[in-house]
Amino acid sequence: MDESVLKCPSCSAEGLERGTDEIDIPHFGKVVHYFMRCTRCGYRINDFAFQGNFPNEDKVKIEKKEDLDIKIVRGSGATVLIPELGLELYPGPLAESFITNVEGLLNRFLQLLPLFEDKDKVSEVEEKIHSAVEGKFSFTISMTDPSGVSHFIRN
Ligand SMILES: [Zn+2]
Repeated sequence: MDESVLKCPSCSAEGLERGTDEIDIPHFGKVVHYFMRCTRCGYRINDFAFQGNFPNEDKVKIEKKEDLDIKIVRGSGATVLIPELGLELYPGPLAESFITNVEGLLNRFLQLLPLFEDKDKVSEVEEKIHSAVEGKFSFTISMTDPSGVSHFIRN
C-alpha cells in the first residue's frame, strides 16, 4: 500500500486514517471493505474489493415491501438501472461505493431528483418512488459492474 500522506478531499487536512473490514456474505464469500476517514471532518471514502469469479451483472425484481430489505453492494464502477422508474446511476469521478438496501437506494435517487430540469417528470418519478417504498409498485433493479464487486444480497 502507498504510504504517502493523503489529503482529505473535503477539508484538506493531512493524514487520512485507513482501515479495512471484511464482510462475510453467505453463499457469496468475503468482500473486503476499504475505507479512509478524515480524523478532522469525518469525510469517508469507501471502496470494496472482491477476489473471485463472479457475474458482472446482477438483477432483482422488487415486488413486495419485504424486498425493500434486499441489500445492495455497489462498487464505484457499477451502473445501476431501474428501467420502470427511468432511474440510472453511472460510474464517474463522483461515483461512490456504498452498501445500502433497496429503500436506501430509492432515497438516494430521491435526493438527486431536484437536479433534473423537467419538473413534471420529477414529480411523476417522485410519486412512483413513494409508492415503491410502500411496496405498491414493482420494479427491477439491475447492476452491471466490470469488477464483479457489485451485487444484491438476498436474505
Ligand atoms: Zn477532512
